[in-house]
Amino acid sequence: MIRYLLIVCLLTYSSSLKSIEVVWPTSMDRRTIHSFDDFIQPTASEKTTSGCFGMVRDNCRRFHEGLDIRPSIVNNNGEPTDRIFSAMAGQVAYINQGLNGPYGKYIILVHPQAEVPVYTLYAHLAAIDQSLRVGDAIPRGKPIAIMGHTSMSSSPIPKDRAHLHFEVGLRLSDSFNQWYKEKFGKEEAPNIHGAWNGQNLTGFDPTNLLASTNVNVADVIRALPTALAVTVRTNQTPDFVKRYPKLVVGDPNTAAGWYIEFTWHGMPKRWTALPAGSSQLPSTTFEIARIDNNYRDSMVLRKILATDGRSPGENLIQNVQILFANCRN
Ligand SMILES: [Zn+2]
Repeated sequence: MIRYLLIVCLLTYSSSLKSIEVVWPTSMDRRTIHSFDDFIQPTASEKTTSGCFGMVRDNCRRFHEGLDIRPSIVNNNGEPTDRIFSAMAGQVAYINQGLNGPYGKYIILVHPQAEVPVYTLYAHLAAIDQSLRVGDAIPRGKPIAIMGHTSMSSSPIPKDRAHLHFEVGLRLSDSFNQWYKEKFGKEEAPNIHGAWNGQNLTGFDPTNLLASTNVNVADVIRALPTALAVTVRTNQTPDFVKRYPKLVVGDPNTAAGWYIEFTWHGMPKRWTALPAGSSQLPSTTFEIARIDNNYRDSMVLRKILATDGRSPGENLIQNVQILFANCRN
């Protein structure tokens, strides 16, 4: 009996320690990195914070959804030669070889082996390994690309500010394309990136992911502060809940709605199923249930809240619409 209990205890203990190995995604030696100054590529402002995650661009008016990692090696022409490595074991989800947007050439991996199957995104690449195909299994630390400065944004990235834009996050909906078509109709440019369109991706600060060699991704997400919660009334199940069950509390099968906690930048980090008859169910389809005052100003800047600081901002409304794109009656 004691032996049985010991085994049960050990299993419980090891499952709470479940983690995935993470490597630094560039040729830079991780042991040389002790602060942001050691690896961040700033914008022309030359402020280190401009290459970090958050409302760090255009006098805090523009959101930067990842970390910009500078080269550790450049050739005689001043071009970076750093290799880009898969940060964790996973598989290829999307490859954009074209120069058709601000991210330039980029690749997205998904990581089903992590406790929450997050994506990682590697952008502004000079070249992506031509042999890679969507669905390919990728071991941790596999070279997948070469660092560059590709981008089609209004202000090109000069070679002396080449960097890897590294992002980690969650995908909102499998039905994104349906939402996109309904929202933009035929007039707008077609959705060339499908379910991997940036509007369907919601990143979180990669710093805590890259800070260790072993990371429990669920713990990293759970540790993000809740800045706002919304309630939604629906008896259908958003695919987000099925994709990320570790972020869900309660029984999705009997839910009559959801209490969803968001980070200040609009990522849905924790979902609680509300049973029929719950006093928390909203009278309309969706309403704000709680706002943390500490994040009110950041949420207004990020358009998670409207300028009145109380009602939903355009980015929150859009994220909720996309999250429930598959939940139409
Ligand atoms: Zn960036």
